[in-house]
Formats: sequence, structure tokens, C-alpha cells
Amino acid sequence: MKETQKQGLQTTVLHEWEQLNGTSAVTAPIWQTSTFSADTPEQLVELGESTRPSEFYTRYGNPTHRQVEATVAALEGGDAALVTSSGMGAIFASVLSLLQSGDHVVAQRTHYSATAKMFRDLVPRWGIERTFVDQTRTEEFAKAIQPHTRLIYIESPSNPLLQVTDIQAVAELAKSHGITTLIDNTFASPVNQQPLKLGIDVVIHSATKYLGGHHDLTAGIVVSSQAFIEQLWDFSLMAGSILSPFDGWLLLRGLKTLGLRVEGQNRNGLALARFLQAHPKIERVNYPGLETHPQHEVARRQMKGFGGMMSMVVKGGFPAVHALITSLKFAKCAVSLGGVETVITHVAAMWGHQHSPEQRRALGIEDGLVRISVGVEDEHDLLADFEQALSRI
Ligand SMILES: *Cc1c(COP(=O)(O)O)cnc(C)c1O
Repeated sequence: MKETQKQGLQTTVLHEWEQLNGTSAVTAPIWQTSTFSADTPEQLVELGESTRPSEFYTRYGNPTHRQVEATVAALEGGDAALVTSSGMGAIFASVLSLLQSGDHVVAQRTHYSATAKMFRDLVPRWGIERTFVDQTRTEEFAKAIQPHTRLIYIESPSNPLLQVTDIQAVAELAKSHGITTLIDNTFASPVNQQPLKLGIDVVIHSATKYLGGHHDLTAGIVVSSQAFIEQLWDFSLMAGSILSPFDGWLLLRGLKTLGLRVEGQNRNGLALARFLQAHPKIERVNYPGLETHPQHEVARRQMKGFGGMMSMVVKGGFPAVHALITSLKFAKCAVSLGGVETVITHVAAMWGHQHSPEQRRALGIEDGLVRISVGVEDEHDLLADFEQALSRI
């Protein structure tokens, strides 16, 4: 981990890539090529046997990837990064590169749905044991640790209930047992939360979300020590989830407004959460920035802003949710999150694919639960839209 971030976040997203520019272009050119030539066959062999060559074969990475990686590593205060073709590509490669048969992993009871399914159904097929804990209770992490525990996997705030893990406490606990910690930092973004500074070893993002920010690409990224990223790169060469150079370039372009976008989403998020919480047709709002959130104090300690993600329970279950969603003018009924447009998702309906009604209830997913990813529309338009849509219930 680097000492401190030398420069501000917006300066970093605009200029960090330039150290790998090599041209006089003011914006990054796209390295849209699958392969690179060498002067001699010997040189080509040498390149192929080196660690992380950036001009050999694009599955090994190329200059566009390296520019994205340098930018996000600087944002998180990490030594190195590896970009992948999706958030799940980053999660899968990181978890599987760390664990082997006979190991044990501690994960949370609530995670992003594909992550939860990976731990529940896939991981045991490789002879890896796992324990799921309530992330709001640090003592449950402590109790779950076994002699063969190799990894503690956390996500905070977590999908879809916006529960908060005490990151520093879990990181310290893991360190005292020599266990690697990994966090999915997608919901917070590096603008609001920098887990490496709190003692976490590996940070993952679905860059599809806030880092890209425009609902126009899928990508993932892992930030950690040089040693971990090299080990992960070696594994990911075979996992093969390499990002297309064009999407890497789009990601680099999207990153340029990260600080501006997320600050706007922090403001809109808090305003919408307060408005919804006071509304008679809403039973409950889950947003870490509200004083009523059960882990609000922990969130205040470890987050600079509370982000644009929230969920809420609409009174009246499925029919009420249907009326709300179909009446909204700006908020799109879609999956994904973290983009500039506001998006709303009916969680129980979406989770129906991967979870039985009993599993959903056990996870606290009520029928009236919707998740909102707040965009950067003007605040008064956003609130007015929710007000008119709620009046149709
Ligand atoms: C979207 C998401 C993922 C998966 O990322 P993809 O880019 O869709 O593969 C993982 N974790 C969280 C918290 C997410 O929101």
C-alpha cells in the first residue's frame, strides 16, 4: 500500500494514465490489437516468458489495460491492479486463485446474487468449505475462523440490503490469524471508501458500475499488492476473462468524471433516501447515510460519502411495486447500477431466478423490496418523479 495519495482524486482520474502514454495525444489512444510484433523470434520468446508483458498478446494485457489499471490502483492506494472482462471475472479469478481443495472461506450471508450463488453452489464442488456470517456482527467472523481458513470475503455496503461490515475490525481479526481479506467495494466506489487503508488485502470492483459509470460496458478490476496481482495474472491467463481494449478505453474515459459523478450521487442519494423515508407509502429505507440505519456509526467512520445505492420496502407488496415502477418517468426498470441514469430493480422478482422463496425470506428479501441506483438527474426532477409515481399506488 502506498503512503498517501499524493494528488486529489479528480486529478488522478484525468492524468494518472499519462505516465504510460508514450504519444503526444491528450486523450488515451485505443490499443485495439490482439497481438504485437517483435524484431526477432528470440525477443518474442523472451516477451512470452516475462511477467505481465504489455505488448505481447492481448490476453496477457495491453497498454490500454495498463492505463486503466494504473488509474484504479492509484485511486485505491494500491501497488498494482488487474482489469478483467466483468466483475464476476475478477471475483471468480481472485477467489479461485487463492483457494484450493481442503481450504475454508468465511463469507457473508448477503452478497451480490452471483457471488452468493458462487459460494453456495460452486465453491463446494472444489472441496472448499465455507461458513456464512451476519456481516453486521464482527464476533460472528471471529467465531467462524478455523485452522484451515484461508480467506475472509466481505462486501460493504452489501447488495441488496445495504448492510455494513466493520471493515477495519474484520481486517485486524484476519491479520491476527494470517488470513487474506478481500472486499467487493463496488457499491461504495473508491470515492467513498478505500479499504486498503483500513487493512484489507484485496479490493475488487465491478467496473461495470461506478467506475465505468455510463451503463455502456462490463468490466471488473482487482487492486492489491504487486505479488498478489502477479499471482492472479498468472491464474487469469488461463481463466481468460480479458477485457476488450475498446471497453478498456471506454472505462478510462468514464473514469475521468468519477469524482464529479459520485459526489452528485451522494447528494441525490441522501436527498432521495430522506424523502422516501418520510413518505407514508414506504415502510422502510435501507441507506447507510440515514441516522436510522443500524450501522450508521460504522458507515460514518469508514465512508466519506454514502453513495447512490439504497433499497426500500414499499407497503402493499408486489402490486404496489408494480404501480410504482411502471409510473416512474426517469428511473429505468433494469438491473445494474452505478451509472448516471437512475435505475430501479424489484429485488424479490430478480432473485426469484436463483433463490427459492424460502431462501429469499431467510435473506430478508421481502416481496415489496426494491433497489434504487440513484443517477445524476437534477434532484428536484428525481424527487418529483418518485412523488408522482408513489401517488399512483
Ligand atoms: C454487478 C456486481 C458484481 C458483478 O459484476 P459484473 O460486472 O456484472 O460481472 C459484483 N458485485 C457487485 C456488488 C455488483 O454490483
